[in-house]
Parts: sequence; C-alpha cells; structure tokens
Amino acid sequence: MTMQRLADVDVRGKRVFIRADLNVPQDDAGRITDDTRIRSSVPGIRDALARGAAVMVTSHLGRPAEGTFTSTDSLAPVAERLSALLGQPVPLIRDWVDGGEWHRRLAPGTVVLLENCRFNAGEKNDDESLARKMASLCDVYVNDAFGTAHRAEATTHGIAKFAPLACAGPLMAAEVEALTRALANPRRPLVAIVGGAKVSTKLTVLRALASKVDVLIVGGGIANTFILAAGGRVGKSLAESELVGEAKAILDAFPGKVPVPIDAVVAKRVAADAPVKLKAIEDIDADDLILDVGPQSVAALVLLVGKAGTIVWNGPLGVFEHAPFAAGTKALAEAIAASSAFSIAGGGDTVAAINTFGVADRISYISTAGGAFLEFLEGRKLPALAILESRAN
Ligand code: ADP
Ligand code: MG
Repeated sequence: MTMQRLADVDVRGKRVFIRADLNVPQDDAGRITDDTRIRSSVPGIRDALARGAAVMVTSHLGRPAEGTFTSTDSLAPVAERLSALLGQPVPLIRDWVDGGEWHRRLAPGTVVLLENCRFNAGEKNDDESLARKMASLCDVYVNDAFGTAHRAEATTHGIAKFAPLACAGPLMAAEVEALTRALANPRRPLVAIVGGAKVSTKLTVLRALASKVDVLIVGGGIANTFILAAGGRVGKSLAESELVGEAKAILDAFPGKVPVPIDAVVAKRVAADAPVKLKAIEDIDADDLILDVGPQSVAALVLLVGKAGTIVWNGPLGVFEHAPFAAGTKALAEAIAASSAFSIAGGGDTVAAINTFGVADRISYISTAGGAFLEFLEGRKLPALAILESRAN
C-alpha cells in the first residue's frame, strides 16, 4: 500500500478532517438500530484526539436531495451516539462549509461532527469549488470510509486533492491491506466463492475473479444460470436466460476452474414451511425452485475450501434466510471458519449469513463495504484510494 496513514502523521495541534462512514440504519422514529459503523469509526477519531488534534468528522447519511436540509437525514442521532462512545461532547455543526470561522476556534482534544455531507450542493459530483472550501477547513484530511471509496465525491475525492496533507484512517488501511493480501499476492490455491441472487449484478466480478483465482465456486441464483450454461435444468428457479451465453463463455475460457452444482435442494415455493426435496440436477422438474445447493455439491465444495491457501467469499449459496434452504451456506461458512487459509468475506447478505451462523470471529477479515468491496474484487481502481496514493508520492 502506498497511501500515507493517519498513524504515521504528526497531528499535534493540527486540525484533522475525518471522512467516516456513519451511515447507520435507523427505525421510523429515527433511532439507530445498529451502531457498528459508528463504533468502527471510533479508533481513528480517538487516535487523532489522543495525539492532540482538533478533530472534525463528517459522513453521508441516507440520500437527501442536495442543497436542502431534511431533519430525517440529520446526523443528530449519530452525534449523540458518538458522544456516548467517546465519552466527550460532540457538537453538531450545521453550516460548516459557508458558516464562517468556526474551525479556527476548534481546540486540540475536542471533536465536532459536521452535518451530513450530502446536504451540500456539489458533494456527489465532486464539485471543485466545494472541495476547495472543505479542504481549507483542515491541515490534515483523513479518509476512513472504505464503504464509499468507489465514489468520487467532494468529501471522498476532491478534498483529498486540495488538503495540505491527505492520508488513510485505520479502518481504511486495514480494509485495503486485507483485500490486497487476498488478491495481489495470495497464498495458493486461491478459492473464490460467488453466490447470491443474480449474475447480472456480479458479472464483472465473476469475469475478473475467473482469471485470477484457481477455483471459482458459483452459488445461489448465480449458480442456476451456470447450470443452464452447462446444459442442466433449473425449472422455475431464479436464473437469467439472457446471461447464459456469458456464463458459458466463462466456463469455456477456464475449463475445470468453475465447478457447477450437481444436486440441489428444491421446493415449489420460497417459504420456511415449504416441503423440500433433494434432487440431482437432471431430475429437476419444470415447476421446481432450486433454493439451496445439494449435499453432494456441498461436500465437493467443502473439500476445495479445505485445501485453499486464500478464500474470498461473496454471496450466499441459497435462500439461507429460511431454515430449509440454509444448510449449504451454513456448511460453507463453517468450512471457511475451520480452514487455516487467509479468508475474506463481504457483501450485505453474506455478512448477515456469517452472523447468523456465528462464525464471524473465525474469518480473517470481514468487509462491511458492499459496492466498494465488489469493485475492489473486480480489480477496479477506486477513486478515493487512487487520490490518496497520488498524494503520498
Ligand atoms: P450479497 O449481499 O452478500 O452480495 P446478494 O445480494 O447478491 O448477496 O444475494 C443475496 C440473496 O440471494 C439472499 O437474499 C438469498 O436469499 C438470495 N438467494 C440465494 N440463493 C438463491 C436462490 N437459489 N434463489 C433465489 N434467491 C437466492
Ligand atoms: Mg445483497
């Protein structure tokens, strides 16, 4: 990694601007239902405060219309929770871009939260004059929000061009380090598992991984399209007939690298109380739904995972939300947990599955960044990382 890190920057007496990801889920009454992202952002903030910086933190929350304040998208509840976690006051500053000289009065060891950055017109299209104004507030810019690293916006990209110094926070650094370790120079064999709902949302990931990994295991609805491509039957299952050609191209380009399931758990409807059957793929009926990978396919896949040096996992192998269709994803999660390989996993539903099956502490690194995680797997240059790298040289 060629980015400069917060830990290596002397921040004593400096004004430090931290772009965090505090985009937490809230219920209808505005109460935070999961504060993981706030907790994860605390170490970077605490480190800067402990070393004598005056700290300002911002984040996006929800999708407000730019240029207007909407109280439902306010960071006020986040300020309150952050204050409790830090054990010190966290005032919320509403008009922080054109609000005068407030930043000059910020004392070392104190922290303020800057209201939802998406309230500022120009945030999303990385407006240069907005980014320059933001940069003028600080001495050091810190990006600790990997989850938005795939977006070039004023607080994730533009500001990093104009701030006197730009570096990565500890969360960002850890994420990039783990992903780089898994993909840049991995211990072999490198086994990737891509499951989930649709090929269309992950086609570029599948293509990029196919050429990089030693084994590419497909699962979930994605596997169904590959089953069709291999000449198998899927009945009424979720599959994308228009992408069978793409799936076939991957199978043909990498012979033997992409095992296709040979059996499945099927039902006539997606429900926890639906009667289920185990079937070989050639016995799938026209009105069957494939809702989980079958036990023979799971056994083969567990063997492959057991031999891996590095494992990358995105996407469940079945409709794990319902117990009758959870066995495949559970077996995979447990095989990854039992393996001595360096393992990374990411994706909203994948992380939910990992938590459901209680294996989180036995996976080497779990990424909570959906879109950015997938784009990193695709081998794309994430704009927020690229700008930090260019500032380090
Ligand atoms: P992630 O969020 O981890 O990237 P996706 O969003 O791509 O994963 O897919 C997760 C969803 O895919 C889950 O809600 C799961 O129920 C669904 N899914 C998995 N297998 C199947 C299947 N065989 N048929 C239909 N849906 C499936
Ligand atoms: Mg998902």
